[in-house]
Amino acid sequence: MQFLLTLRQHGITDKNVLAAMESLPRDAFLSGVFKARAHEDVPLPIACGQTISQPSVVALMTQMLEITPRCKVLEIGTGSGYQAAILSKLARRVYTVERHRPLARAATRVLQEFGLVNVVVIADDGSRGLPEQAPFDRILLTAAAEDPPAPLLAQLRVGGIMVLPVGQSDTVQTLIKVVKTESGLEYSELGEVRFVPLMEGVAADVE
Ligand code: SAH
Repeated sequence: MQFLLTLRQHGITDKNVLAAMESLPRDAFLSGVFKARAHEDVPLPIACGQTISQPSVVALMTQMLEITPRCKVLEIGTGSGYQAAILSKLARRVYTVERHRPLARAATRVLQEFGLVNVVVIADDGSRGLPEQAPFDRILLTAAAEDPPAPLLAQLRVGGIMVLPVGQSDTVQTLIKVVKTESGLEYSELGEVRFVPLMEGVAADVE
């Protein structure tokens, strides 16, 4: 209940988004000592030096995407799989790309545990998008780019929406929304956020 109140205080009004958030316990996407802190509205560490996003930011980005049940969604930056799980409750199909193989594997497992069969996790460099499944109705980046990556803009369907943090890697970034129309791209700013940077290539994790 407190969780939903916090989300509402951050401007989350979409009932479907609130229901999706309520149905997925965040602690399942965390490990060790951080499980006990899952209810806190803060980013928390996950494996490979990455972070699970803050719930209010996950909810905000999801709300800005205006997902309908027919949407095919692409997420870049699977991390823990938490955001992908929320997206999967609202969309027809979700493709999520992660450059750290151990994270992609762990996320696949937890998504399976929840029976979320409409999500596909791909271990690869997501900065090039996923051309073989394009175009997408919605695209979400959960890692910060200096500019919206051109391949992702190209893979967005006309009428589609992309949400992403834009800015220099270590500083505060701006969350932006891009709408693709027949005549071009419309940008709007949604506030300040802080994400890990979008990196090039697949990570060379030692396993
Ligand atoms: N959405 C995640 C949080 C993401 S943190 C969650 O709900 O838990 C950002 C993630 O983006 C990190 O896991 C990082 O490894 C990944 N990432 C960064 N650059 C990437 C790239 N080029 N392709 C795919 N994933 C990338």
